[in-house]
Amino acid sequence: MTARIIDGKAIAADLRATVAREVARLSGAHGLVPGLAVVLVGENPASAVYVRNKSKQTIEAGMRSFDHRLPDTVTEDELLALVARLNADPLVHGILVQLPLPVQIDSHKVLAAVDPMKDVDGFHPVNAGRLATGLSALVPCTPLGCILLAKTVHASLTGLDAVVIGRSNIVGKPLIQLLLNENATVTVAHSKTRDLPAVCRRADILFAAVGRPEMVRGDWVRPGATVIDVGINRIAGPDGKSRIVGDVAYAEAVEVAGAITPVPGGVGPMTIACLLVNTVRAAAAIAGLPPPAV
Ligand code: NAD
Repeated sequence: MTARIIDGKAIAADLRATVAREVARLSGAHGLVPGLAVVLVGENPASAVYVRNKSKQTIEAGMRSFDHRLPDTVTEDELLALVARLNADPLVHGILVQLPLPVQIDSHKVLAAVDPMKDVDGFHPVNAGRLATGLSALVPCTPLGCILLAKTVHASLTGLDAVVIGRSNIVGKPLIQLLLNENATVTVAHSKTRDLPAVCRRADILFAAVGRPEMVRGDWVRPGATVIDVGINRIAGPDGKSRIVGDVAYAEAVEVAGAITPVPGGVGPMTIACLLVNTVRAAAAIAGLPPPAV
């Protein structure tokens, strides 16, 4: 038996189409065009590609996109001043400061300076706290995408055993909160966890967010389990060319799992689609309108 492949690319395309419909409705009925500002500091090529894709998909969904590129010599005060301008700009409903930031800048300080209502990355402590206490919040995009993908396999996550490998603020921790909100039974594994393979084998749904190429082997996966692979790792292939692999040994796991996300084409495309979702939600909330149907 081989697993059902969860087609993140197609699911993300459907989600973007729903976002575009909501944007058209908001602008038609209320004259509200959601706007997303993305701030990129420095020349990190991976970040530059990511930011370009964000702008493109923002515009394709009918929203306004504002790109701000700053040199890696920018000071913390200059960056904070830009964030303050974006907080005050009525055309901007979402602000995303692309990480990582250069060493002279305290990223916690910058993320905390973003207006929580415009915090479409969901990294502000207010949104993290709201999520943790079960209040409505802007939720980090990658974990939100993971939940949406899991729900294409399981109509309900209630009572399922979910194992999350990784406890970062960006992926693991918010994912844990989202899973608790879905009534899953959640186990968190990390670099200090003992007997990780045995912990993973307990999972009905296994989420890997580690950043170690193909660490999760096929025999760590319970037969029939759902595997959501968040990892994006660039490795050298046998031909010397680099390629992207996940945190899961896909060729092994696909033989055991019930459903699995590929890398690329799984969680990755969902992240930007969820960013667009958050921007529409933020725009509606700032305008005092009911939550949009996405
Ligand atoms: P991180 O480095 O901040 O966190 C990694 C986590 O893995 C840590 O909590 C650590 O405890 C755990 N870990 C490390 N080694 C381990 C081990 N041997 N056993 C068990 N746990 C271990 O990384 P992150 O920002 O959470 O990202 C994780 C992965 O997800 C990376 O590959 C990253 O590129 C990818 N990612 C993908 C997307 C996307 O859009 N698909 C978005 C964000 C991150």
